[in-house]
Amino acid sequence: MKAVAIMFPSREVRVLDVPEPRLHSPTQVKVRTLEVGVCGTDQDILKGHHGTAPKGEDHLVLGHECLGEVMEVGAHVQGLKPGDLVVPRVRRPCPHTHCPACRHGHPDFCVTGDYTERGIKGAHGFCSEHFVEDAAYLHKADDSLRGVAVLTEPLTIAEKGLRELSHIQSRLPWKVSPGKALVLGAGPVAQLGVMALMRAGFDVTVYSRSPKPNEKAAASEAVGAPYISSKEVTVEALRKQLGGVDVIYEATGASKVAFDSLQVLEENGVLIFTGVPGREEPLELQGDQVLGQLVLGNRVMFGTVNAADSDFREALEDLARFRAKWPGKVEALITQRHPPSEFAKVVEAKGGIKHVISFQEHAR
Ligand SMILES: [Zn+2]
Ligand SMILES: [Zn+2]
Repeated sequence: MKAVAIMFPSREVRVLDVPEPRLHSPTQVKVRTLEVGVCGTDQDILKGHHGTAPKGEDHLVLGHECLGEVMEVGAHVQGLKPGDLVVPRVRRPCPHTHCPACRHGHPDFCVTGDYTERGIKGAHGFCSEHFVEDAAYLHKADDSLRGVAVLTEPLTIAEKGLRELSHIQSRLPWKVSPGKALVLGAGPVAQLGVMALMRAGFDVTVYSRSPKPNEKAAASEAVGAPYISSKEVTVEALRKQLGGVDVIYEATGASKVAFDSLQVLEENGVLIFTGVPGREEPLELQGDQVLGQLVLGNRVMFGTVNAADSDFREALEDLARFRAKWPGKVEALITQRHPPSEFAKVVEAKGGIKHVISFQEHAR
């Protein structure tokens, strides 16, 4: 069986011939990989910022955003049968008895850092013809989502963020109506965040680097979220134009624009960080001003990573809702499909919105 892997320590990406995976327990499921999404995390793995092989091995099979089709189920598996579409979760709990998060089924909040992540940290990913996974980590996707369900994992970032947002805003002693939201960035996580925020009732504006016209701006405006370029409109001017927003959803990993955007956040507003910073550029920050904005306006900033069981279920339901609300627009976020052998090239690809590795079109 073919698998796309990164070799250690060379960090070279290769297509390997690996043994066919088999069921080892009655709760496992064998899955045929259909599609694997490529994202900034893969880029970070190739650059050496992330990525570790399973213990004792010299390579890591890549791929953490996946859609597959069930081939075979163990004797104790319920609710899944051959032919069903499935999306796997990424993170697996750490082994420590003292980790409250993992022991409560929430490895996304793991406190020890000893979790594993398929395709990222200590466990092989899904970029292989087939893989085996415990049924507990698989989510059934409706057949109608065949063309978009590979976007489930990046959408779970927004689902978890919105879930945390609603917990935080329950601090306010009145029913908070959605109001205005600003999305920083226009990549796939941002675009899916736009849809999730709009679905939740927010009036959404996108603020990103490239001036219009460009395909990311077109994608957000196609679902009704105006796009403003940070090269053309300063944060101060944005504040005047929008008059302040209730939620900022950051999906760039660029710390300067993230902290600057606090100027646009209303009293009691919430800034959600989802981008992982990569450039390590020094940041000049008016610390007292930031502290003042937080304290004197009851503003909250929080970071969020990975997602839980319920976020995957919610994301799959939302993909169906998005398709009904904006026909063709979710599909349009996947701008290119490539064969598995091009993984390394795809990671470096410029342009487009979401790039996906397709096993169906190319490998069979
Ligand atoms: Zn990803
Ligand atoms: Zn843990």
